[in-house]
Amino acid sequence: ATAEASAPLRFERSVEEIRRNSQWIAGGVNSNFRMNISPTPLVFEKAEGPYLFDVDGNRLIDYYLGMGPMILGHNPQALTDAVTEQMKHGILFGGQSPVEAEAARLVCELVPCAERMRFASSGSEADQAALRLARAATGREVIIKFEGHYHGWFDNVLWSTAPPLDAAGPADQPVPFAGSKGQLPQSIAGLEVLPWNNLELLQQRLAKGDVAGVIMEATMCNAGAIHPAPGYLEGVREACTRAGTILIFDEVITGFRLGAGGAQAHFGVTPDLATFGKAIANGFPVAAIAGRADLLDMFVTGGVVHGGTYNSQPLSMAATVASLKSLTPELYATIDRNGTRLMEGMRAIFARAGVKAVVTGYPQIFHVAFGLDAPAKDYRDLARSDKKAYVAFTTALLQRGVRALERGAWFMSVTHDESVVDATLAAVEGAVGELK
Ligand code: PLP
Repeated sequence: ATAEASAPLRFERSVEEIRRNSQWIAGGVNSNFRMNISPTPLVFEKAEGPYLFDVDGNRLIDYYLGMGPMILGHNPQALTDAVTEQMKHGILFGGQSPVEAEAARLVCELVPCAERMRFASSGSEADQAALRLARAATGREVIIKFEGHYHGWFDNVLWSTAPPLDAAGPADQPVPFAGSKGQLPQSIAGLEVLPWNNLELLQQRLAKGDVAGVIMEATMCNAGAIHPAPGYLEGVREACTRAGTILIFDEVITGFRLGAGGAQAHFGVTPDLATFGKAIANGFPVAAIAGRADLLDMFVTGGVVHGGTYNSQPLSMAATVASLKSLTPELYATIDRNGTRLMEGMRAIFARAGVKAVVTGYPQIFHVAFGLDAPAKDYRDLARSDKKAYVAFTTALLQRGVRALERGAWFMSVTHDESVVDATLAAVEGAVGELK
């Protein structure tokens, strides 16, 4: 592939609209994770398949995919048809609907741990519900989370998600680091932070017998793609069972993306509870808590409260059913083939150009980090990558019509076919050339 010689894309309309919109919307964006984008947060008019179309008239190959949900690509016909049909019957009932039962049945069929489930509206909320169940079921308070893992933006979990290394304390005893100003300092009560992928430390801590739950991504995807060490997940499962601690897999990214059964099916390790979001409904605001029936039934007879006006909203449920029914083995095989082509193509380009970079993860969601000699084994390794050079790279890519997250994650959809991947690789080649 050769780099295109065409002029870099321009984003003046987006710059202008973000500036204008900032008089109404704080920062011109509705999530802090959409700020500080180089060269500017973008404003989009429409999306189709692997493409986004912005207000400057640019067509961009999209690897953000809405921050992960769009595994079917943008605007898949089956999903828009299902939602349009549901719209004719009503938007919100404040009660139950046949479509939510169908969606729940599919989740329980696909997900190994899902004997029972509940829908929620965001991954952050689903994680809160899971923590509440773990504490109620055990009568214990302590939840263990891991450095570099993100479980939503609420006070009691937004700790040590991306701590600066000089404030993070010793590697084997991380000092909890608050992720936001305005966060209650005492919200760390009942939460402890450990390094991930270190089985011995976790075993020692669980042996005290006072830990309600352990929450983790079974394979790190949010901060960067880091695989569990061989035997780690099995060891965690065993230690939690022995200690009477509830094991929670946060599958908000991995669920329905690594495969129809998520990370737990991929690794063959079944948690007590799991949370889902993103790919469950290909862009509609749906999340879920699933797991052991005795735990989920604590919402019914155990005095545990779980609410949400928009939980199982019928349009979103129609989207969920349409999405889950589209998750065929052929879909994953297609993503596997094209994602592998992209990962390997990028590795070859970086090697030829002498760019020190690692490409890790899975064809469905992978991560690129600059400046590392070997794939990161934990958050601290990853935090040493050259983020500045990587942002220069994604900026150069954007000017060549490819939109990739600045934090290194690349999400694939079934619509990213061979020709889209090859166009992406041509842009990568050009962007790499510009870095030197
Ligand atoms: N858990 C993980 C692993 C995530 O990646 C995210 C979001 O990126 C969340 C939880 C929170 O989900 P939401 O943004 O839907 O609240």
